[in-house]
Amino acid sequence: MAVETVSMDQIVSLSRRRGFVFPSSEIYGGLGSTYDYGHYGVLLKNNIKARWFEAMILERDDMVALDSAVILHPRVWEASGHVEGFSDPLVDCRTCKLRFRADKLEDSQCGRKPSKHPGETPECDLTEPRQFNLMFETTVGPVQEEGSRAYLRPETAQGIFINFKNVLQIARRRPPFGIAQIGKSFRNEITPGNFLFRVREFEQMEMEFFVPPEESERWYRYWIDERLNWYLRYGLRQSRLRVREHGPEERSHYSQGTSDLEYLYPIGWSELEGVANRGDFDLTRHTEFSTTKLEYVGPDGERYVPHVIEPAVSVERIIVAMLVDAYDEEVVGERERTVLRFHPQIAPVSAAILPLIAKHDGLVSKARSLYEELRKRHSVEYDDNGAIGRRYRRQDEIGTPWAFTIDEQTLSDDTVTVRDRDSLAQERLPIGSVRGWLDDALERDWKTPKAD
Ligand code: ATP
Repeated sequence: MAVETVSMDQIVSLSRRRGFVFPSSEIYGGLGSTYDYGHYGVLLKNNIKARWFEAMILERDDMVALDSAVILHPRVWEASGHVEGFSDPLVDCRTCKLRFRADKLEDSQCGRKPSKHPGETPECDLTEPRQFNLMFETTVGPVQEEGSRAYLRPETAQGIFINFKNVLQIARRRPPFGIAQIGKSFRNEITPGNFLFRVREFEQMEMEFFVPPEESERWYRYWIDERLNWYLRYGLRQSRLRVREHGPEERSHYSQGTSDLEYLYPIGWSELEGVANRGDFDLTRHTEFSTTKLEYVGPDGERYVPHVIEPAVSVERIIVAMLVDAYDEEVVGERERTVLRFHPQIAPVSAAILPLIAKHDGLVSKARSLYEELRKRHSVEYDDNGAIGRRYRRQDEIGTPWAFTIDEQTLSDDTVTVRDRDSLAQERLPIGSVRGWLDDALERDWKTPKAD
């Protein structure tokens, strides 16, 4: 029996219990919708970022990396349109004193009657919507004065556009080519929530792909497919993913075409990643505001402003999708187990090394030396704490794909058992071949055993 649907509460509770994600500032009563990542959360995040970095940069010839600042010149955000237009419509309720996004009332709960939406009870007294800018303001320098106002970036993309000329000259690129970066972004969301799905501080993975204008439609389609395939490659089920193209009325001011890659979260189909054809909007605006020409000039004198295709996603939305997709419960024998069926290259720990008996010097020394060898190349964990069944279940809950167990037989024939998280199959391997076996296993194609 496998779990077909999982609730956000189950994900939140497992994440907390196993130390993936904690509500932030808990000892001070918490700060709404802000989270801290524990050990396994950090490992999981690192793996997601590493797989993205490999696919977007290391495995390609047409991409370079960038790491731009969080606080940019304030004019950047005037040029980008964020100062004027990066806002959501906000309504206040004079009765319950809560604030809501006017365009998301159906997704919100009334402060007095959570079974109803704001505006649905006779007591609700909503104000007219007004625009609320989502950028966090800060002050640069010791004096708070006119001209010292700056913003925490609400997206990483603008840091890429303002470096276009640097990359063109120094990395000697010509379109089509891309610039990719991973970094924190900040949005003062009116109604954050649904665990990590909508938070105020998140880590974006964005790439701007600069192309000759006449090729933009082709590359837009290419990047939708490419990003969809990345999710399938790392195990998300096809039936839980779909592409939804925005209608003209839904698109941002800069967009010539936008598609959301949506995942079937416990809250319903929602945006996991956006792929946008931004045209020449950004380079043109930064040319206008900075007076630095951002264009491509070819060796034979041809010049044009490239068009831009942008796939943008946050690590947080991927984490929620991967946790939901991986979560499973089943009864094995008489016992129930919870298991995270992560793709092996996503799982925080690749393998556990377990001496069957913790107090047995011979077993411990074999297990420790296998652990020392494997940890040089992989994220592995040594665990001698408690009954073996409990240790297996602990590893299942953090999604460790394999466990190597060292038992009495190891002392006589130098073999260990390897237990597979998904099939629960066990086989014996020579201890000397474990390292190669694990290298190969991590490289193998993997498909979730959960029904599609
Ligand atoms: P939404 O409509 O859900 O507010 P958006 O269309 O404003 O999202 P974009 O500006 O396209 O989002 O941001 C690109 C990506 O960044 C999104 O696809 C999502 O993965 C991520 N993202 C945006 N806002 C948040 C947030 N508050 N918390 C977590 N991730 C976010």
